[in-house]
Amino acid sequence: MERGGRPADGAGLAEYRRKRDFDRTREPEGAPRRKRRRGRGEPVFVVQHHIARREHYDFRLEVDGVLKSWAVPKGPSTDPSERRLAVPTEDHPLDYAEFEGTIPAGEYGGGTVLLWDTGTYTNTTAKKGRELTMAEGLAHGHVSFLLHGEKLSGGYALNRFRGGDGEEAWLLVKEKDAAADPRTDPVASRPESVRTGRVLTEIADDDGRTLHGRPRGSGGGR
Ligand code: MN
Repeated sequence: MERGGRPADGAGLAEYRRKRDFDRTREPEGAPRRKRRRGRGEPVFVVQHHIARREHYDFRLEVDGVLKSWAVPKGPSTDPSERRLAVPTEDHPLDYAEFEGTIPAGEYGGGTVLLWDTGTYTNTTAKKGRELTMAEGLAHGHVSFLLHGEKLSGGYALNRFRGGDGEEAWLLVKEKDAAADPRTDPVASRPESVRTGRVLTEIADDDGRTLHGRPRGSGGGR
């Protein structure tokens, strides 16, 4: 896959870094690093269940060296008739696809993050019969892709619209294919981490914190 556009050295990550204090959070800094080994060449996707001020699922797609990111309040669906609101958030470093843990209360996004699903995806975006890169599709406000995850698979689309307040938002929709199934709800039936098998409370416990990132235990803490 040709990797044009933004350089893969984290140049798109200024906002991500500005929002975080890496002395306080264990989230990856996403510093410039050696050239990434491309392996099979398929870009990654990740879905992280995040208990922050508002509970949501972060849906992320690797595009040109960063993770393009959306916050999906209800999480992804396997039902093509469900359109899930997806609010764009700042680009995240590729390392973030491996992050699971509890961000301390008071820090940006304070609360517990569970690695809910991950895998690779295949771009299927096209316009008038012409294949588009993900970057081109995002600029046009429409991308489609096949997910190859543990919990999510098959075609999905993200479509941009403008809300009543003029704010940009997107809708995440399952496409009608063999993997579509209105009767299952993986968000409800498979809450566990795809990486460690833990549920949210176990992740927070292991970090000695509450789900919302407060220190747990005797008399106050810091
Ligand atoms: Mn989040």
